[in-house]
Amino acid sequence: MFSRVGLRLAVLNAVVFAVILVAISGVLYLFTKERLYEKVDHTLQVNAQMMLHGPKYPFAHWPLRQAQLHFASTQPHFGQLPTVIIVWSATHQVIFQQPANTFSASGLHAIASALSERHPYNESVQGHDFRILNVGISAQDAAFLPRGGTVQIIRNIDDQTRELHALLVLILFSISAGLLAAIAAGWFLAQRALVPIRESWEKQQRFVSDASHELRTPLAVVKAQAQLLLRHPDHTVRQEASGISAIDKEARRMNQLVEDLLTLARADSNQLELSLEAVDVSEMLAGIEDLFQVLCVQKGLHITFDIEPHVVLLGDEKRLHQLVWILLDNALKYTPEGGRINVLCRRTETAVELSVSDTGVGIAKADLPYIFDRFYRGDKARSTEGTGLGLAIGKWIVDTHHGKLTVQSEVNQGTTMLVYFQVGKRFMPDEH
Ligand code: ATP
Ligand code: MG
Repeated sequence: MFSRVGLRLAVLNAVVFAVILVAISGVLYLFTKERLYEKVDHTLQVNAQMMLHGPKYPFAHWPLRQAQLHFASTQPHFGQLPTVIIVWSATHQVIFQQPANTFSASGLHAIASALSERHPYNESVQGHDFRILNVGISAQDAAFLPRGGTVQIIRNIDDQTRELHALLVLILFSISAGLLAAIAAGWFLAQRALVPIRESWEKQQRFVSDASHELRTPLAVVKAQAQLLLRHPDHTVRQEASGISAIDKEARRMNQLVEDLLTLARADSNQLELSLEAVDVSEMLAGIEDLFQVLCVQKGLHITFDIEPHVVLLGDEKRLHQLVWILLDNALKYTPEGGRINVLCRRTETAVELSVSDTGVGIAKADLPYIFDRFYRGDKARSTEGTGLGLAIGKWIVDTHHGKLTVQSEVNQGTTMLVYFQVGKRFMPDEH
C-alpha cells in the first residue's frame, strides 16, 4: 500500500515541479522574446516615421525616386541585412522596394498576404525570418506616397530567431533534466515523508489488534459465564454468585479498557483539550491519601505522603488526578506485602516535583525503554491484572502539561516515578 502511495506522491511532486518549471521557463522565454522584438519593433517604427514624414521638410515635393535615394543614404542599417522598405499601392502593387530586388516575386506575394495587419508580426520568406510593420498611407503623409497604399518596413530577424531557438533548446534541455531530477527528488521526498506516516500507521494497526486482543479475553469470560448461568435457569442469584461476580468483574475491566482506549484514541487525534486552572496539587494528593492508606493497609503495605503545602500548578485537575492515580496504582500493584510506598510533592525554585517511590519488584533494564508503550507489560507484571495502558496515558498527560516523566528502577529494590513540571513554563502560575 505504501509503495503505491509513495509512487503517487512522487508523481504528484514531479508534476507540480514540472508545472512550476514550465511556467518559469515560459515566462523567461516570452520575456526574452518580447525584449528582442521590442528593439526590432522600435527600429521598424523609426523607419516608418522617416518614410512617412521625412520628406515633408525641405524635399516634400521630391518625386519618389529622389526620396528613395535620400532614404537609402540616410536610413540606419541594423544587423547584417538592412531594413527593407516596400511601398504598396492601394491595389497591392509594389511601387517601391529598397534595397531593390530584395524579394523575389514569390517572396513579395508571401509578404503581401497580411498587408492589413497593423501590428508588427513575423513572416518567413525565402528561408529567412522577418519582422514586418505595415503602416497605412493617409493624406497627411509624405506627398510622394500613394494614398490608400501601405508602407511596409521589414527587418531581418534571423539573429533573433537563432537566439530564441538556442534559448528554447536550453529551456527544453533544462526542463528535461529538471524533470528527471524532480522525479528522483519526488521519490526521495515521498519516501521520507512516508516514514512517520508508515510508523504511525503500523502503530495504529498494532494498537487496534492489541485492543481487540485485550477485549477478547473478558468478552470470552462473560460469554462463557452467561452460558453457564443459562444452563441452570432455576438457580438463585446466590447459587450463581461467583459466575455473576466474574461477569461483573470482566465487565468493569472492559469498561476501564474501553475508557483508556478512548482516551488514547482521542489524544492521538488531538481531540482532548486540557481545561487549565490553578490546581492545588497538595490538596489533590490529600484527597487521595485516605483512600490509598486503606488500600495499602489491605495489601499489607506502608504508605507515606510527604507533601509540601500549597503547591500549585496550572493544569487540568482531572488529568493530573488521573496521573497520580496511575502511578499510585502501579506502586500498589507491583509492591509485594510488607513493602513501602512514598509519595512526595514539593516546589523547588525551578520546578514542581511529584514522585511516587516503592520498594516493589522493580523493572528489568530490558523493559525500561518500553514501559510507556501501549499494551506493554513487564514479565513480572503479567501475574497481576492490567492492560499496559496506564503509563502510556500517564506519559501523554505529562507531555501535554509540558512536563517530564522519568523512571528509576532496580529489580527487587523498587521503582521511583518522578514527574517534573518546570517553573516559568506555560503550565506554572506566576504566584505561590
Ligand atoms: P494498567 O493498564 O492496568 O496500568 P499495567 O500496570 O501493566 O496495566 P502500565 O501502568 O502502563 O501498565 O505499566 C507498564 C509496565 O511497567 C507494567 O506492566 C510493569 O511491568 C511496569 N511498571 C510500571 N510501574 C511499575 C512499578 N511501580 N514497579 C514495577 N514495575 C512497574
Ligand atoms: Mg498500571
